Amino acid sequence: MVSAALGIGVITALMAFANMADRSALQREQQLLQNGFTGLLDEHARRPSAVALWDEAVKNLDLSFDHDWTESNIGQYLAGVQGFELAVVLDRTDQPIFAMLGDDSRAIGQVGSVLAASAPIVDNVREAERLRGPITDHLRKMDGQPPRIIYSTAVSNTDVGLLALTATLVQPDFGQSLPQTSRSAVLISGEVIDDDFLSDLARRYLLKQVHLGAPDAERIPGHAALMVRDSTRQPIAMIQWKPQRPGAEMLRMSMPLVLVALIALVILAMRYQHRGRQATQRLVQSEARVAHLAYHDPLTGLPNRLRLADHLDGAIELLRKDQRSFAVHCIDLDRFNEINDNFGQKAGDDLIREVSRLFSLCCGPHDLLARLGKDEFAIVQSGATPDGADALAARLIELAGKPVEIDAGRVFSGCTVGVALIDHPDVDAFECLRRADLALNMAKTSGRSGYAMYAPAMDGDLRQRLEIREDLREALAQGDLSVAYQPQVHQGGKLYGVEALVRWNHSARGHVPPSLFVPIAEEGGLIDKLGAFVLRRAFEDSKVLGNLRIAVNISAAQIRLPDFVPELELLVEETGVDTRRIELEITEGLLLGDDRTTEQTLGRLRDLGFRIALDDFGTGYSSLSYLQRYPIDKIKIDRSFISNLGTDSSADAVVNAIVRLARALRLDVIAEGVETEIQRVCLAAAGCDDIQGYLFGRPMPVLAIQAMMKDHAVPVAQETVRNLPVSAAAR
Ligand code: C2E
Ligand code: CA
Ligand code: CA
Repeated sequence: MVSAALGIGVITALMAFANMADRSALQREQQLLQNGFTGLLDEHARRPSAVALWDEAVKNLDLSFDHDWTESNIGQYLAGVQGFELAVVLDRTDQPIFAMLGDDSRAIGQVGSVLAASAPIVDNVREAERLRGPITDHLRKMDGQPPRIIYSTAVSNTDVGLLALTATLVQPDFGQSLPQTSRSAVLISGEVIDDDFLSDLARRYLLKQVHLGAPDAERIPGHAALMVRDSTRQPIAMIQWKPQRPGAEMLRMSMPLVLVALIALVILAMRYQHRGRQATQRLVQSEARVAHLAYHDPLTGLPNRLRLADHLDGAIELLRKDQRSFAVHCIDLDRFNEINDNFGQKAGDDLIREVSRLFSLCCGPHDLLARLGKDEFAIVQSGATPDGADALAARLIELAGKPVEIDAGRVFSGCTVGVALIDHPDVDAFECLRRADLALNMAKTSGRSGYAMYAPAMDGDLRQRLEIREDLREALAQGDLSVAYQPQVHQGGKLYGVEALVRWNHSARGHVPPSLFVPIAEEGGLIDKLGAFVLRRAFEDSKVLGNLRIAVNISAAQIRLPDFVPELELLVEETGVDTRRIELEITEGLLLGDDRTTEQTLGRLRDLGFRIALDDFGTGYSSLSYLQRYPIDKIKIDRSFISNLGTDSSADAVVNAIVRLARALRLDVIAEGVETEIQRVCLAAAGCDDIQGYLFGRPMPVLAIQAMMKDHAVPVAQETVRNLPVSAAAR
């Protein structure tokens, strides 16, 4: 548009310039014509002086009149030689004495209108004659030179036509004949002004197509006009000619060039504009890309945390306006890290993509699935009820619990979900996520692959957990923890081993059960220190426990630490413990999934001489294949089966089956949580020889174990019974 405007501007300016040039050219031509016309008249007017300024003429026109002489010397000279159409001689009284019109030398009767028209110029001549004074004086003054010509001209319309009339005073040139009086004869010459007359003018001034016409003649288009006026300033004729138009000419010549330049300019401008638009489009696209990147996760294309926050803002607004409640689900994959570590990052990415695809299948059209981090997802479930939220969480867990086929093979990761149902708009996006996240943490502490619904009480729990974590950090640093040992006996009552169980007697909280602070240590990154403390204690105490076998609990988070085995080796070296007397208790959860590292770690522990026991057997994902695949020496039947022995026949059946299974696989088997004689008898009947439980001894200080070893008896450690809080005792 700018270039088009520029083009129009340039053309308009050019046209204005051309117009101006044309106008000034026209003015110049008009001036030229005016001056030329006057000059031409003057030139014509001077020609009769050749005969009027002549001694002979004075003699033959004034002193005496000789018609024949006049005809041949005046009339024929003017008509034939000079091309005048008319010659009239007036005597000193201004009476015509000779008139020649064309060839007719006796035409006095036909020149009435000419005489009338000439009267003013004749008067002019007479006035000049008077002013000149006596001719003799004048001649004297001129000192041998001919006198000044006295003449007057006018253009006039007469019966003869448009005439250039000149009145010239007849004067002697050398003074050989002198006029009789102070008034001399006057010669009137006339020339018809026609196209011929003007063609001379046209030639001289390079004018084109010059025409003469009546003053009211029709104007020729494209022609300029000049009025010819008589002595009274009355228009008597009009000259028309085709003026030169240098501006138009210049325009005509330059226009193609200008147009080409303009077209080039427009094309250039269009190309620039096109490029500009492309650049803008690219910019917009890249901005959109950046905006998309800012709000989406590049791996899955799912909305990210930022976008989720926006969506939550919208959901809260909707809740405020329409009472439309919603639920926030925070989802954490249970075994992403293991899969990522074992199969590589590509497998991890594949898993994330596949899982996000599965999760998106659970979402309704108004729900939003977002990826918050490495293996964390969130769903905003719109219009959710408590039941609806429960259903979605359960469905997510079910889907994630199924094996997933990726390039690396078949994996299954499982997931844990925390749900926050938001039915009051008195929250912000951050709070919604915090609640769901808190619920997720709660779900994780009560085992993986489950879900928890946020409850306000969790906030208190969380605070308490944070406090406990900090206290535990301090306790670990100051050595406030201790280890108690619970006897393990054969059916006959012979003490053959102990289980090391960590104890924390908090100055303000009293006895803190390990079932509470061990998971906090796992979450809070303290499990390495806690684990190392128990191991060191157990290794050192083993020196005073004779041949007793010592079982030490190793949590999954601890065994997965990369430094676990090397540090264990160091500790073995440092304490000089006999590793064959140490039994490491692991849980089934560790074995879940196709984990090569776990297998290797367990193999190395075995190589170091440790025995490996599978704790809480029967509660997790007990799989026969684990027992075959991993290097396990012993299984520990979970307390939940033992407590029902003798009262629930199915419990007897399960215990029987486990014992037979262990036998078949040549594994040792022990029952834990044996509290009653009936339970002991049932276990004996089932063939379970090794037992552990309050029936034979509570966890007790190492000194108490030493005493027990001496007695070869199994007393109940009364002091630890008193110290035990209800929650631990109930476990
Ligand atoms: P666990 O490994 O199953 O340990 C057995 C738990 O059962 C102990 O609870 C023990 O006091 C209790 N118990 C033993 N006999 C009976 C009985 O006859 N009746 C009842 N009701 N309970 C009995 P504790 O010491 O409170 O430990 C709880 C859990 O904390 C342990 O379960 C273990 O998972 C964990 N834990 C304890 N010490 C350690 C440790 O040093 N390292 C790790 N990683 N975990 C530990
Ligand atoms: Ca244990
Ligand atoms: Ca156990």
